Amino acid sequence: MKTTAKIAVFDTTLRDGEQAAGTRLGSRDKIRLARQLARLKVDIIEAGFPASSPEDFDAVRKIAQEIKGPTICALSRAVAADIESCGKALAKAARPRIHTGIGVSDIHVMGKFRDERYGKTLEAKRAKLVVQAVDAVKRARNCVGDVQFYAEDAGRAEPLYLFEMLEAVIDAGATVVNIPDTTGYTVPEQYGQLIRGIRDNVPNIARATISVHCHDDLGLAVANSLAGIRNGARQVEGTINGIGERAGNAALEEIVMGIRTRADYYGVSTGVEPREFFRTSRMVADLLGMPVPANKAIVGLNAFAHSSGIHVDGFLKDRQTYEIMRPADVGVTGSRVVLTARTGRAGLRSRLEKLGYQLSRQELDTMYQRFLVVADKKQEVLDEDLAALVHDALPPAEQNLKLEYLHSYSGTTAIPTATVRLLVNGKPKEGASIGDGPVDAVYKAIAGLTATHAKLLRYDIRAVTEGTEAMGEVTVHLEIGNRRAMGRGASTDIIEASAKAYVDGLNRLG
Ligand code: MN
Repeated sequence: MKTTAKIAVFDTTLRDGEQAAGTRLGSRDKIRLARQLARLKVDIIEAGFPASSPEDFDAVRKIAQEIKGPTICALSRAVAADIESCGKALAKAARPRIHTGIGVSDIHVMGKFRDERYGKTLEAKRAKLVVQAVDAVKRARNCVGDVQFYAEDAGRAEPLYLFEMLEAVIDAGATVVNIPDTTGYTVPEQYGQLIRGIRDNVPNIARATISVHCHDDLGLAVANSLAGIRNGARQVEGTINGIGERAGNAALEEIVMGIRTRADYYGVSTGVEPREFFRTSRMVADLLGMPVPANKAIVGLNAFAHSSGIHVDGFLKDRQTYEIMRPADVGVTGSRVVLTARTGRAGLRSRLEKLGYQLSRQELDTMYQRFLVVADKKQEVLDEDLAALVHDALPPAEQNLKLEYLHSYSGTTAIPTATVRLLVNGKPKEGASIGDGPVDAVYKAIAGLTATHAKLLRYDIRAVTEGTEAMGEVTVHLEIGNRRAMGRGASTDIIEASAKAYVDGLNRLG
C-alpha cells in the first residue's frame, strides 16, 4: 500500500491571528479556543508570545497546562529573556515547542539591525545575525527538545544567505525551519521554488521539517502555502478564517480542504478533523468580533449555497454536478437544533459542550438564567443565539460595572433621552442624558455615571439569527488613552444590547 506523506498543521490563530484583531482575548477565552483547536486536531497550537505581556505569559502557561494532544508552541525573538520566558510558560506542557527566529532579508538585516554593534556592513551584520540565531536555538534547546526557527521575511531574502542561516540553525538543533513570507510578497511558482531550493541546497535539511507561513497581502497566502507543500514542505502554518496581520494569514480551513479535495494532485494528508471547521470558525469570529464574509471559501454562509437556476437544477439531479465538497464534511449540518424554555439545565449543558463551550457549574447557572429570559422572549433558541449568550452571560472576571436598569425614549419627533442605573463597584448610581439617537443618549449617560472618556472606535450590530424577533448582538471597540478593548452585548432589545456592549467594553478596559 502506498503511504501518503503527512502534513503537520500549525495553528497560529492565538498568536498571529489575535495580534491583528484589535482586541486581546482574556486567558479564559484563549483556553476555550485552544480546547476547540485540540478538537479540530491541529498538530501544533501556537499559544502566544509570553515575553510580550504578563497576560500573554499567563495564557500560554494555562494552555500548556491544560491542553493535551497538540504540541503547544510559544513565540520568542532571538534574545535570551524571551526564550527563558517561553521555557517557563511551557514548563507544564506535555509537548512543548519554542519558536524563535530572526530577520533574514537584506531589508530586515539593514533596517532592524541598523545599530553598529551588529556590524558596519551588510556582510558583517549577516554574519553576526547567524551567530545570534545559533545562540538562540541552542538556548531554546536547553529548555525544550523541539525548537522551531523562523527566518523572518524569507520571501524577500537572498537565497544563498537564507541557506547558510538554515544550515547553521539546523546544526544548532532546530527541528523545524519556518520559511515565512512575512510581507505576502511572493507568488506561488516563486515560493514553491524557494522551498525546493532549500531542499536542494541546505546540506543537513533532512534533519528538519520545512514549514510554510504565508500572508495574504496579494490574496495568495493559500496558493503559496500549497505551492510550498507541493515542493516538499511538511508543515503548514495559518489561522482559522485567515485572520492575521494586515490582510491576514493563510486560512487553514482552505489549505486543509484543498489538500483533501485534491488528494489526487497533492498526494499528502493531514490529521485534522474537518467536521470541526465550521464550529471553530464561528467561535473565532465570535470571540474576536470579526465576522466571516458570506462568500468566504469553506466556512462562509453561502459557501455551499447554489442560486443560479441552471446550477440548482443540475445539483438536484446529481449533487456532484456543482459540488466538490459536501457541507457536512466541514461541519455544516443543515439541520438546526432548537432549544426552548422547557429545555433543562442538562440539555443546555450538553448543547453548549457540542458547540465547544465547557462551563463550570457556576457559569452554567448564570448562563441558564440568561437562557430562560431569552427563551421566554424568543420562543426558539438556536446555536447562534447560544454562542452570543455565552459571551453575554460570562463577562470578564473583573466586573466593576453592572447594568441594572435602562429606560430610553426616542421617536421621529422626540429628543432621544436615556435613563441608566449602574452598579459601580457595588454601589447604585443613576443618571440621564439626551443624545443624537437612543444609543448615543445611553452611551452619554453611562459615560457620565462612570466619569470615563472612552472613544468609540467601532460600533457593529447584527441580527444573530433570521426574523424580526431575532436577538441583536452589538460589538463595540473602545479606546482610553493607548488601551483598547472590545465589548459585546446581546439582547432581543438592541438598545439594551448596545448598553451591555458598552459596559462590557468599559469593564475590560478596567
Ligand atoms: Mn506572520
